[in-house]
Amino acid sequence: MTQRAANDLDPFWMPFTANRSFKAHPRLLASARDMHYFTPDGRSILDGTAGLWCVNAGHARKPIVEAIQRQAEVLDYAPTFQLGHPLVFELAARLGMLFPADINHVFFAGSGSEAVDSALKIALAYQRARGFENRTRLIGRQKGYHGVGFGGISVGGLENNKRGFLTLPGVDHLPHTLNLEEAAFSRGQPAWGAHLADELEVLIAEHGAETIAAVIVEPMSGSAGVIVPPVGYLERLREITTRHDILLIFDEVITGFGRVGGATAAETLGVIPDLLTCAKGLTNGAVPMGAVGVRGEIYDAVVNGAAGPGIEFFHGYTYSGHPLAAAAGLATLDVYEGEGLYDRARDLGPYWEEAVHSLKGAPHVIDIRNMGLVAAVELAPRPEAPGARATEVFHRAFDEGLLIRVTGDVIALSPPLIISREQVDELIGRLTDILRNTP
Ligand code: PMP
Repeated sequence: MTQRAANDLDPFWMPFTANRSFKAHPRLLASARDMHYFTPDGRSILDGTAGLWCVNAGHARKPIVEAIQRQAEVLDYAPTFQLGHPLVFELAARLGMLFPADINHVFFAGSGSEAVDSALKIALAYQRARGFENRTRLIGRQKGYHGVGFGGISVGGLENNKRGFLTLPGVDHLPHTLNLEEAAFSRGQPAWGAHLADELEVLIAEHGAETIAAVIVEPMSGSAGVIVPPVGYLERLREITTRHDILLIFDEVITGFGRVGGATAAETLGVIPDLLTCAKGLTNGAVPMGAVGVRGEIYDAVVNGAAGPGIEFFHGYTYSGHPLAAAAGLATLDVYEGEGLYDRARDLGPYWEEAVHSLKGAPHVIDIRNMGLVAAVELAPRPEAPGARATEVFHRAFDEGLLIRVTGDVIALSPPLIISREQVDELIGRLTDILRNTP
């Protein structure tokens, strides 16, 4: 066996990373507070992405840290199969009040991917429970990202994530709504594109509504490079799904907890799904946790409609409702609500929009999209190497003290909701300089 130094980077197989390039030029984060990360050599990095869209209240917030510490001493772990602990019931009740309309029952998971796969299974269990065994088809959307479970990649629409893997049968995809010819540099929701929801009618005509269980979309696509829903698009999806008795699932793993200005995108946009997944901001990123909110009718059909006294739904995770995550979640909601962060994101939206659209005219920029405290700056790809320009911008930004995220040639920005106007200016100013210096 070869001896390795304790700090050898090789054994960690890094997720969604070009391992060889990273390990040749590692960029490490050692600590974090509020709006900044710090590198092992003490450089500060302005966090323009809230980690991975999750640290909505900023880093290492004291009430959250203390809640986790306290909980670890009192009850480190407890199963929620056939047992429970107080905080998980409390968190479910809090979320039930936070989620819109009658989305008032909550199933817990350990991540966004698990939340999505749970939501798909709940949709199928509900259809079965009400006697619609044939409603098994699922409909996602091109460019959709719903995590990396086999369910999530099947309904997802990112080809790289599916290539070489088996995916579920009986899945179709709606077209995505990104169109740079029709809607480049739209501010907020584009005026063009609502008619693309009508493609759902085409799939229904092809397969029959009686075979379709659910439609799942991100109300605003994040990981595919920030695709903002056209005005009226989600309303039309809701209308069609309701008319054909098909469930509508919003994957709010990114959009939940203030990101688009409001507790959920559903609330912000006034379109209420039947199921809603969340994760990330649920615990401010501090402890892994995902959740599925469902309408009371769905819980009732599966749980109260079950024939005997046995288990009604054969699904769950060792870490469903983990005590540390539940403690982090409750403390996080206290911070969000106590500091009015959903309103803050909404109020800062116009300033953010103005700031990000000032990048129009900067070198390479071919589109800018924004919603709430999210933005995408799309760059013209280098013809010989798509994605290389944005990756170079990412590296330059990090080395100069700014964290951004890139997918393909899209730069995604999603700072913690505590960002100040001065920090917005700093972020956009620095990015402008970096774009000017990037060939
Ligand atoms: N759904 C959406 C919309 C997401 O953005 C993500 C993560 N970016 C996921 C699901 C998967 O979450 P996780 O990485 O926690 O599994």
